[in-house]
Amino acid sequence: MSLSKEDYRHIPSVNALLAAAPTQELLATCPRWAVLQETRAIVQAMREGLEPIVVDAAQKDAWHERLVREIGERARRAATYSLRRVVNATGVVLHTNMGRALLAPAAIEHMTQVASEYSNLELDLETGERGSRYDHVRELLCELTGAEDAIVVNNNAAAVVLCLSAFAKGREVVLARGELVEIGGSFRIPEIMELSGCTLKEIGTTNRVHLRDYEAATHEDTALLLKVHTSNYRVIGFTKSVSAGELRPLADATGVPIMHDLGAGCLVDLREFGLPAEPTVQESIAEGADIVTFSGDKLLGGPQIGVIAGRADLIAKLAKHQLLRTLRVDKLCLAAFEATLRIYRDTKDPSLQIPALRMLGLSLDSIEKRATNFSNALAKAMPVSCSVQLRDGQSQVGAGAAPESGLPTKLVAISTGEIQAATVEAALRRGQPAVMLRVGGGELLIDLRTVAERDETALAEALCAALPR
Ligand SMILES: *Cc1c(COP(=O)(O)O)cnc(C)c1O
Repeated sequence: MSLSKEDYRHIPSVNALLAAAPTQELLATCPRWAVLQETRAIVQAMREGLEPIVVDAAQKDAWHERLVREIGERARRAATYSLRRVVNATGVVLHTNMGRALLAPAAIEHMTQVASEYSNLELDLETGERGSRYDHVRELLCELTGAEDAIVVNNNAAAVVLCLSAFAKGREVVLARGELVEIGGSFRIPEIMELSGCTLKEIGTTNRVHLRDYEAATHEDTALLLKVHTSNYRVIGFTKSVSAGELRPLADATGVPIMHDLGAGCLVDLREFGLPAEPTVQESIAEGADIVTFSGDKLLGGPQIGVIAGRADLIAKLAKHQLLRTLRVDKLCLAAFEATLRIYRDTKDPSLQIPALRMLGLSLDSIEKRATNFSNALAKAMPVSCSVQLRDGQSQVGAGAAPESGLPTKLVAISTGEIQAATVEAALRRGQPAVMLRVGGGELLIDLRTVAERDETALAEALCAALPR
């Protein structure tokens, strides 16, 4: 749309908008750069014919007021953090897109302290000489997993790359076809093998592999017998896999180590939560894996970190590897991780302190009670065109753990009247705080399992504001 000369005359100047009293008020609470940026943007949009221009003198004051209000809203949005709080009402406990595990209070406290003061990160306070950052969690990891030694890197993907590079570069790695996994987008075993400079030796079929397949594939150029936990999928039906324990005699006879990429890194028995068993780290070590790798921010419930635990001679090799420096874990993660591991070591029931485990352990009863109260309060405040009821549903563990089974839950289901549920969902997602929930069967579905009780009021307010009047 091209503007007439007349239109141009009516475009307010950036300076005039900035000088207006409401803009000056806005500047008291909003950074100047953001106000300036959004004022310029709105004036530019008028010049390009993308923003309506009011020419009627009688409407001018009201129009300018509207403009300043709009600038205020946009400036506030521009000035808020990019990485910010989201109320997770999806019932997915470990949601990779929402930051996986929440930290325990003790982990947050220790992290804050290490962030705000100097520390002995790489300092041996006994001798005054240089120490190793890895020492802060080494003994804890050994005690909890039964491993001889352990080291940590940025995440589990890095742990796998480091191990493959250090133990198998230029050589062969044996892996069953049924364990050739992709963990969301950028982590695919074949690509990781290539990146690490080793050759993948696939054995067996998609559904079955036998010990004799491993035996036939192992020769003098074999560097590792790799097992990858099929964390985010299951092969069911006519299947067979070979455990680390069953591989042990072959490993002993040939001297080829067994590496087990566990993914979730569970330290407790998930069956206590009514979930199917995930292999724990302790079990894998006890069974005979020489090296296990796992994440800190999945079922362990700590910060993003990758753990490599296992035989001391193998860990020693990793500690000397050049790549370790590039995958180095930062001090805040280390602080949070040490505090998280201490909870496992020092308390009888870690699920009282580790948020991810606490959420998984919430009883259906307690969720139903909260859901009932929440929906009663909502029913009173909600527009009459909408309705709310409870439905049976499933919460998910997330982060690729226990993919085939959820935990029974009570969903608060809101039917949104005339307006499409997807429209309300989008408004909630863009709101402050942002709210993420599920949409199913034309309803908004809220699972309070992953919502902190202190967030229930904010969630109810956001819902009432987003629902059609
Ligand atoms: C999650 C997972 C990874 C990747 O771990 P990150 O911590 O996301 O880097 C690797 N292997 C398996 C089996 C996994 O489940």
